[in-house]
Amino acid sequence: MPARHTHRKRERGDGVRWILHVDADAFFASVEQVLCPELAGKPVIVGGDPDDRSVVASASYEAKAYGVKTAMPLAEARRLCPQAVFLRGKFENYRKMSDRMRGVFYSFTPDIEMASLDEAYLDLTGCKRIYGHPFDAADSIKRAVKDATGLNVSVGVASSRLVAKVASDYAKPNAITCVMPGFEAAFLKPLGLRDLPGVGPRTFERLGRYNFKTIGDLQVISEAVLAAALGPSGQALAERASGRDFSEVEEAAYPKSISRETTFHEDTAERGLVEAMLSYLTERAAGKLRSIGMSARTVTVKLRYSDFSTCHKARSLREPSTHDCDFKGLALVLFDELFTRRMRIRNVGVALSSLAPGMPHQATLFDESGFQRRERLYRGIDSVRERFGFSSILTGRAIELIRHLETDSHGFILRTPSLTQ
Ligand SMILES: [Mg+2]
Repeated sequence: MPARHTHRKRERGDGVRWILHVDADAFFASVEQVLCPELAGKPVIVGGDPDDRSVVASASYEAKAYGVKTAMPLAEARRLCPQAVFLRGKFENYRKMSDRMRGVFYSFTPDIEMASLDEAYLDLTGCKRIYGHPFDAADSIKRAVKDATGLNVSVGVASSRLVAKVASDYAKPNAITCVMPGFEAAFLKPLGLRDLPGVGPRTFERLGRYNFKTIGDLQVISEAVLAAALGPSGQALAERASGRDFSEVEEAAYPKSISRETTFHEDTAERGLVEAMLSYLTERAAGKLRSIGMSARTVTVKLRYSDFSTCHKARSLREPSTHDCDFKGLALVLFDELFTRRMRIRNVGVALSSLAPGMPHQATLFDESGFQRRERLYRGIDSVRERFGFSSILTGRAIELIRHLETDSHGFILRTPSLTQ
């Protein structure tokens, strides 16, 4: 998880918080319609070719009218709506639109939390004097997003993140729902259990056995009964069913770059050793990148010779990545181009930059080039390393370092510790 930074709590005049949840309608499909006006008004399904064994990532409202739903197999979507335009989707476009949405949100308040590419929480507590009633603020934000992106959003306005989230779902498509303070439980009462965040298929099935159907059904039974039915999560569910949620809108604090470097125990002219070290440092940086849920596009390699002269070189991948193999390949190419002097090397380093949050997870929807397989591989390696130390798994060139360096649970013992900013 990325490090989280809580904004200083504002003066809460009347003690009421105002949280907005803004969520784009049919995001991927709508972006396609905005970018390609011929698609406007037509059923559009993003996910891939209907002959693929893949699922619907996003369906326009014209397609939803035929019963097409997110996560449904594409083959089934084609049966329901054979005239739909099926698209593979281009992640880069979605990210650009997401950045534009984020820009709009920031123009209203710095207290935002992007929950995914197309949705965000905004804390407007104490902003009444600037924007008027939060409902009016929601309306202004909705129009500003439309102007900046052409996209429709739905907005939930409430005293907590939880209720704001349910309210934006309730508002869909293209509307605003405002739940006044004190009416949270009443708003939730008639809604179905699956409308409550945190009720997944398993919980839903269990609750069904007790004949609970609506959120209101949970409001009238005691927490003890829910705890008996669901175990420890029952109490938290009872809280949510009543609309009680005190969690804050928190922006993840993301770094601008992730770098790792080291000075050799002794200056070296051994090309293989430097390459192995560079591979190792790149793996460490990429592991850190994944641990904070980000991707990177640019790789910079830095060399310092024994006379202290320093040089670096940067280049970008065509697409952002989270995978060691992409970064290592590029780092070794850059090293090859940089290492031109017949002099010993004192220090080597690598930096990953052009960082973006949240992308690898969603990118897997649109990629069939082994990305998913590699993603699983690296996630697996990360979890083993988390338990047994970084050097419990060494790959590729980094293995050569075993001849040269001692390891501890953190990895190789380097003369200068790795630096991150
Ligand atoms: Mg959405």
